[in-house]
Amino acid sequence: MQTLSEREIGVIFWATADPRATLAEYTKLGLRCGQLGIPGDYPLEGAAEAWKSALEACNFRIFTLVGAYAGEDYADIPTVERTVGFIPESTRKERVERTLKISDLAAQLGVPGIGCHVGFVPHDSTAPAYVAVRDEVRRICDHAARYGQTFALETGQEPADVLLRFIKDVDRPNLRINFDPANMILYGTGDPIEALGLLAPHVVTVHCKDGDWPPKGVPGALGTEKPLGQGSVGMERFINKLKEIGYTNPLIIEREIPDQAQRMQDIASAIKLLESLRH
Ligand code: MG
Repeated sequence: MQTLSEREIGVIFWATADPRATLAEYTKLGLRCGQLGIPGDYPLEGAAEAWKSALEACNFRIFTLVGAYAGEDYADIPTVERTVGFIPESTRKERVERTLKISDLAAQLGVPGIGCHVGFVPHDSTAPAYVAVRDEVRRICDHAARYGQTFALETGQEPADVLLRFIKDVDRPNLRINFDPANMILYGTGDPIEALGLLAPHVVTVHCKDGDWPPKGVPGALGTEKPLGQGSVGMERFINKLKEIGYTNPLIIEREIPDQAQRMQDIASAIKLLESLRH
């Protein structure tokens, strides 16, 4: 396995039926590492063999397997609250089971961590959903710990102090944070750079994503994702803060738009921007 540099630039992308072709799209941009998202309907049978050989052939290193779940919808904040992660009770068990299988797949691939959006963590720590999600997160952490893996929560759907209290409450050393500065803005949950300072000891990976705040006067609306450097995060400030907290793991570019050609162009521009900032 190749050695990566400090704050090596990476990308998050989704598993497809053709791992080699998918990886080739990113290696031709000069990328050597990333996070692999596993869609909720992605067949896990045979995935280990297919991805293992493709990753070896492309000399590409995966830091995290990221689980998403069938039935999730990110249309606006109430829809996210209703459909994402382990909050919806009707799908909680099957999504947790799926996450344990993703941890098994990560182990087969030699990937050191897994992650997902667990959904909106309720602010009230006595709420039944809070208790249930906390217990499921413990179960996932314990499963992942047997493989020496971290389990990372994606930031943004709750303010930093709520997330911090949840992490303390779960009380598992391998529970970590995948810090996404744009999410804090898109969900209107607080200044991401301040939040990064607060959450720093728990951060294992970061997303380099940009976005603008939700429109004023539209209840429940999400902000808009932007190409890196064109939103409200302030990439220079973000990367400087990462240096200040001693972060050396990869800078994972995240760009989620349906137009794949535009997405690849935006990723190429993001690489240039990060190259100018990361050292
Ligand atoms: Mg993200």
